[in-house]
Amino acid sequence: MERRRSTDEQMRLRTIVERMADGIVIVSRDGVILFANPAAERLFGRSASDLTGRDFGFPAVAGETTEVEVVRPQQQTVTAELRTVDTEWDQEPAHLISLRDITDRKRAEERAAQLDRERLGRIEAEAASQAKSDFLALMSHELRTPLNAVLGYAELLDMGVGGSLSPEQRQQVGRITASGRHLLGLVNEVLDLAKVEAGQLALEEGVGHSRGVVDQAFALIQPIAEGRGIALTAQTEAHGEAVFQGDDNRVRQILVNLLNNAVKFTNPGGKVTLEWGRTTKPDRDARLLGPRAWHFFRVKDTGIGIPPDKLATIFDPFVQVHGGHARTAEGSGLGLAISRRLARLMKGDLTVRSELDKGSTFTLWLPDASGRAKETAKWRQESPDTAARLEGLGEIGRVLLREVDPLLNAFIARLQEGPIVEGAREMRTCQLGAHTGTFVADVACTLAAIEESRGEPSAVVTDATQIQTVIAERHGAARALLGWTPNTLTREWSLLCDEMKRVIRLGGPGFSEESLAEAFVIIDRITEQATETSVRALNRASQNQPGPELIRRSDGGPG
Ligand code: ADP
Repeated sequence: MERRRSTDEQMRLRTIVERMADGIVIVSRDGVILFANPAAERLFGRSASDLTGRDFGFPAVAGETTEVEVVRPQQQTVTAELRTVDTEWDQEPAHLISLRDITDRKRAEERAAQLDRERLGRIEAEAASQAKSDFLALMSHELRTPLNAVLGYAELLDMGVGGSLSPEQRQQVGRITASGRHLLGLVNEVLDLAKVEAGQLALEEGVGHSRGVVDQAFALIQPIAEGRGIALTAQTEAHGEAVFQGDDNRVRQILVNLLNNAVKFTNPGGKVTLEWGRTTKPDRDARLLGPRAWHFFRVKDTGIGIPPDKLATIFDPFVQVHGGHARTAEGSGLGLAISRRLARLMKGDLTVRSELDKGSTFTLWLPDASGRAKETAKWRQESPDTAARLEGLGEIGRVLLREVDPLLNAFIARLQEGPIVEGAREMRTCQLGAHTGTFVADVACTLAAIEESRGEPSAVVTDATQIQTVIAERHGAARALLGWTPNTLTREWSLLCDEMKRVIRLGGPGFSEESLAEAFVIIDRITEQATETSVRALNRASQNQPGPELIRRSDGGPG
């Protein structure tokens, strides 16, 4: 009698459960699935017969509500709200677990939060950049304009336009002019620093000639040095013409600042020397990238020196080491800060060595251009066709590198929209974009390295190729975990190849036909190689995969 009632109850329970819109699974106390309703079959993407007998794999605690991820075949996940109540099944105590699909709600929440974050970030960035631009505009206009007027009127007075001046008045007008010039210099320096910090300082990228820059700087400093009784000399060990890569106006500005300081902080009778040349062994303290030849300008003085504990801070804005009598030497404490930033913008550096009471040596490092200038000319002459094909690959690589983020977004959007990957819409952005950004960045570097090595085998190109192989292998193995087929993977690579070419085409109307064609041939070759490697890795990984995971704790869930 008892047994019959319980069988009836079970039948009723089953009927109710079968009709429920939520996924329901009955799990034994030791975690084995005993029953799954049709909604659960849809949620798990598996039949009831496939589910029953499997380990549920998630601790069921009666009365608890948890957010979980239901793992479907091919590793797609669905977010669900899991609730557990205790029940009886076949006269045994069991758990009735209901699972409600909340993926859409979750996605909408995430999207709203993401949009909010992006909006806030944009507003903040725009406000910061607007504040910087306003500041720059204010500095350049509101301060410089009246200052120039002050200087202009002082000059008019000095010329006697408003009537003749007594010697005393003339002296006072002279002081107005000197202070005005000093202030204008200061405003210009603050403006320069603000521009560098705001990333708004445009530098000319070119090849500069050392001799010319040195002559111009000397023309400005020689009279000051003579006035202070300091011997100023220039010397070079460089045979032939020494050339550097950088903006020669800015290099001259740095040299003028270094020479000016050297003269300022050296007592009369002292010496200031400017040496320049080329080396492949720069000082260790110079923050320079890559083993290559460097051009240096070295300003040495026999002046008062800088205490060791102050050496690190003199490149910070507004730092002045010397108080007392040396402070009479005018300055703002901005020159070195600007100079080092400029040097680093030109891919070089500015370093210092100094000994108190003996003197200081400041060295400006810049990429050397002598070898490059000569070799490029020779290369163009000897192999005009190769030069035409390869020159410009570096620039194409730079465009690709600059556009990695938008490229990645477009690539993911196309994967999600298009028919290339089944179920891509349900996959997370990070799953879809995995490895791709790194791969594209490496392709960009390969293009630059091929131009740099003029198509000859080089360590950098070999290195880049090996990195691509590693990425392609990892990518294939990761796609195997998602249950992708070789066909899907091949289509994904071809889509990436298309995207890289699209970005390049958009990025440079100025690229020559030859270099563009060469870049596309290289990209095709790299993609082909990567496709083969990753399909091999996918096949290998698919052969030894463990049994499927059914459910996992959600990252964003409360429990
Ligand atoms: P400024 O010269 O306008 O004060 P800088 O940024 O050019 O600003 O220099 C910062 C400080 O570094 C100087 O005030 C000075 O104390 C120290 N300094 C720079 N060059 C030398 C030098 N050649 N010898 C001694 N001290 C120097």
